[in-house]
Amino acid sequence: MIIKILGAESLGVRGLSCVVELKNRKICIDPGIALGWSRHGFLPHPFQITVGTSIRENIIDELKEATDIVISHFDGDHCPLLSPNPYQLGIEEVKDSLSKCRIWAKGPDHCPPTQKKRREELAESLNRDLPNAEGVRDYQLEFSVSVCHGQQEEHRVMMSRIEEDGEFFVHASDIQLLNENTIETILKWKPDIVFVSGPPLYHYALPSHQMQREHAWENAIRLSEQIGTLILDHHLLRSEEGITWLEKLKRTARHKIYCSADFMERAPLFLEAWRKELYEWLPLSEGWHEHYKNGQIDVNNYRIRGWDVLIKKGKIKPCKWYDVCPMKTYTEQGKLERYWIENYCLVDNRHCVRYHMEERGQYHPDDMLPNGEIRKILQ
Ligand code: SF4
Repeated sequence: MIIKILGAESLGVRGLSCVVELKNRKICIDPGIALGWSRHGFLPHPFQITVGTSIRENIIDELKEATDIVISHFDGDHCPLLSPNPYQLGIEEVKDSLSKCRIWAKGPDHCPPTQKKRREELAESLNRDLPNAEGVRDYQLEFSVSVCHGQQEEHRVMMSRIEEDGEFFVHASDIQLLNENTIETILKWKPDIVFVSGPPLYHYALPSHQMQREHAWENAIRLSEQIGTLILDHHLLRSEEGITWLEKLKRTARHKIYCSADFMERAPLFLEAWRKELYEWLPLSEGWHEHYKNGQIDVNNYRIRGWDVLIKKGKIKPCKWYDVCPMKTYTEQGKLERYWIENYCLVDNRHCVRYHMEERGQYHPDDMLPNGEIRKILQ
């Protein structure tokens, strides 16, 4: 089983999307994305938009080969939408992919009206029924009955369990670690790896929220005692407080705790938590978002400056070979798409084939990309 996390707060966007590749199936869970419409009174920063665009393109690409799609619920950061805002994923962009694979979707009960409508719109756009997958089992795939979104009884989500060769993976979106029965369900499934949303600490400013804070912490400890690999992300990592909470959990827990970026062996980009600072470091001209919406402005002006400022301010540290790496030179000469440095070098991605060959002192040609492919045009 190969698990690739595509989008989550520690990768720079809202969501909990991932791909699970089995020997004969490729399952894409929660193919959606958002940037958080307003935080601290600020709309998404252009740098967030550039990172979000790249993740959205990656989700679209991954969906092309998917055999199964799972939708845990119909919040705008978990599914493709008929009327997306400029930062979300539209149904039109992935219609062909969605038309040819199995779709396992949460049922229409215990959904807020907007989510029910999105579900209907998806079914209509694809011109097919979306059967309720809650409680269903299909060989290696199994789905829970609906469980609470946080503590909300009337707003529910569906969890998934995937098995291959005795290894069990659980995806538990938006449960926020707040409901005992949900935690029980996860533990009964005896998973090896769990990918779960942590508590939205940025909503818990009042003393009356102390109970939720304690519950979430106790439940995180409980999961970490029995689960070998626990990946916590999403609501938790939208604030600096959440990032600190996760670090404390890593020090306290019995087993390994990750955020999505840790699991993918690269540096985190907590862009929503850093939004206010991004505005301070790279201010926007008046009416920027309106101009962007009308297609009158190039967001890429902020792309290079955004990466530079994160390095300068110590938020990220590039790969130690970056300054002497031909990938940097080729990118600066305009011979190579920025994709490679942004997804490998600048986030110190340990999946880089060049990095490992460099560490072992093994010869590798200058025209070899970080994924090991040879790009002849570079010579
Ligand atoms: S290509 Fe690989 S080795 Fe070179 S700087 Fe990027 S991550 Fe490091």
